[in-house]
Amino acid sequence: MACIFCRIVAGEIPAEVVARTPEVVAFLDVQPLADGHVLVVPRAHVPAVEDLEPDAADELFREVVRLARPVRDALAAEGTTIGVNNGEATGQTIPHVHVHIVPRWSGDGAGSVHSIFPRKTSRPLDEVGAAIRRAAGDRQGDLGLT
Ligand code: AMP
Ligand code: ZN
Repeated sequence: MACIFCRIVAGEIPAEVVARTPEVVAFLDVQPLADGHVLVVPRAHVPAVEDLEPDAADELFREVVRLARPVRDALAAEGTTIGVNNGEATGQTIPHVHVHIVPRWSGDGAGSVHSIFPRKTSRPLDEVGAAIRRAAGDRQGDLGLT
């Protein structure tokens, strides 16, 4: 088994585990961006968010929600930045879905999610919206959109 997170899930390599459920494991990032930096991963090896089965997605986000308050409380944090690098181009280094929960304090020197983007856009919102609705296909009826 080559995937490092699969190996952590299987207990083959050590990690500072903070939570386990039948579907999800959460452990401390070995190179934390801040004290209390947690990674929440599905037990099943799934490379990208869009590959998650609906139940696995539910369980993963349920655990992120459940841990958000304890992470904050344990570190006396004022907030958390919660994010996913999804795909190699985004900086995802381990192709096994993982949600970062990083404790934050005002004045900690880190920026918001917005700060990672140079805001380069070239297409109008209505054109982009239509393209995404088209790509989402069968969801259009649910949204009442044509
Ligand atoms: P990403 O760039 O979103 O793929 O993040 C991968 C994260 O996994 C990085 O923050 C690494 O520090 C972390 N990481 C890599 N190996 C381990 C490990 N053995 N135990 C815990 N965290 C790890
Ligand atoms: Zn894996």
